[in-house]
Amino acid sequence: MSARRVLERADELATFTEEPGRITRPLATPALAGAMARVREWMVEADLEPVSDAMGNLVGRRGPGPRLIIGSHLDSVADAGRYDGILGVLIGLEVAAATDIPLEVVAFADEEGLRFQSTFLGSRAYVGAITPEEEAMVGIELGEPLFDGASGYLEVHIEQGPVLVAEDVPLGVVTAIFGQSRFNLAFTGEAAHAGTTPMTMRHDALAAAAEFVLAVERLAHETEGLVATVGELHIPHGACNVVPGRVDLTLDVRHADDVVRADAVATLQGVGRPGIDVSWAPIHHHEATPVSPTLRAKLAEAIDGRSIELPSGAGHDAVTMAGLTDIAILFVRSTGGSHNPGEAVTEGDVALAIDAATRFACSI
Ligand SMILES: [Zn+2]
Repeated sequence: MSARRVLERADELATFTEEPGRITRPLATPALAGAMARVREWMVEADLEPVSDAMGNLVGRRGPGPRLIIGSHLDSVADAGRYDGILGVLIGLEVAAATDIPLEVVAFADEEGLRFQSTFLGSRAYVGAITPEEEAMVGIELGEPLFDGASGYLEVHIEQGPVLVAEDVPLGVVTAIFGQSRFNLAFTGEAAHAGTTPMTMRHDALAAAAEFVLAVERLAHETEGLVATVGELHIPHGACNVVPGRVDLTLDVRHADDVVRADAVATLQGVGRPGIDVSWAPIHHHEATPVSPTLRAKLAEAIDGRSIELPSGAGHDAVTMAGLTDIAILFVRSTGGSHNPGEAVTEGDVALAIDAATRFACSI
């Protein structure tokens, strides 16, 4: 019954959008404020006392601290599905309704960063870790952060990859959140006439870049748990009759173990071709986020039926919380992937997730 309620509430929250016909709910918009106001009512129904901050984060609390926090986000990407983030908040409310334990359910106002191309503004505001520049950007003054300690943090989230569907299991216990390294690479050779330059006398930047792309794919295939992607590739001034003199591309490397990721980057930095200069500019880097072994074990015990362990290739609000308390993450199978309107969960899977989260919360 509570699983049915979660699905109905997700349908209702999907109606709060900035774009009619699609779900688009960025930070600091009427759509997000509307969704938050509805969740506030549900918090009261679940016997939680709601409070919010200037960022728009909403917290429902009861009992003396330190409490277990169950949280996720209510903002969305553009043209989103109805479960990413939302599911974790709604399942937190069901845990609150099914128990009378001290608890805090948090609905973060910004995880996807759609409004300001930011990272985790909601959870970072909640713990008091945003900069004065970020406060100015959003146009707020935060004051005292809402976070006042915790006995742990649980995030329930749809799996954003295809693993649970492929393995045919409803739930997954997350082992770690991938660390990530991103770079802009420039391959510089020599632009030349495509007709008059003999093959032995070329410095073709694109041919070198193509070898690099395949080396990236090969290394990731050969390294357990590594994912590596060249997602953008440009040939400035490219033309049909010109040997490419320059290629710009991006590289994204992720792994649950920082050492393996660093080794992979070092290996790729050794890939090259004589006569082609390769420059690497780092754009973004963050370390892997470990999950508490104790909470992870308790979460696995709390699951009735089949589950698997898997790393998270995407970041979550749990990344912010990991700096302050032990975290655990429960993935729920989504048959329609994620960050698209096709996101789909079954009532049965949601019921299993509510059961697991409730048992877990009572074990903390
Ligand atoms: Zn999410």
